[in-house]
Amino acid sequence: MSETKPVTAECVFCKILRGESTAEIVFRNRNAIAILDINPIHYGHILVIPRSHAESFLGVPEEELADLIHATRKVTEAMVKSLDPPGYNIFSNNGEAAGQSVFHCHFHITPRYRDDNIRFLLKLKRYEGDEMRRYAERIRSTLSGSA
Ligand code: 5GP
Ligand code: ZN
Repeated sequence: MSETKPVTAECVFCKILRGESTAEIVFRNRNAIAILDINPIHYGHILVIPRSHAESFLGVPEEELADLIHATRKVTEAMVKSLDPPGYNIFSNNGEAAGQSVFHCHFHITPRYRDDNIRFLLKLKRYEGDEMRRYAERIRSTLSGSA
């Protein structure tokens, strides 16, 4: 999946970051902002958004990653303390095929409740023969070829 050109002028999250659109901001640091999702899975559903416009996680500048993960940790902790859900999910949709609808990278953090009937509809596969090793080898060899 390749990165496409920045479209910061029209991007809803860039507008929120610039203060041109309103949002319920719960946290910000140098390189990330956390807001409430306008259409929550459950009340208290948070989005953590890196300052730079990058369509997917892989486009977030290296120097912003620490602040992004730190913001994610801070707001998750506050959400758990304040709302006391029995569980929570942290996830990020990257690419239309993965369900992304706003093409500025973000993490979702949502409270979860027993029997809330929210789940990915999974059709789990099984590796046959040496397929598992071959998939691991493809990933390992790409990693060993990179810095
Ligand atoms: P995605 O589908 O890309 O993983 O998630 C995008 C999320 O952004 C959705 O859950 C959607 O409800 C939320 N969203 C879209 N537009 C706005 C907006 O203008 N303000 C806020 N607070 N959330 C938004
Ligand atoms: Zn943007």
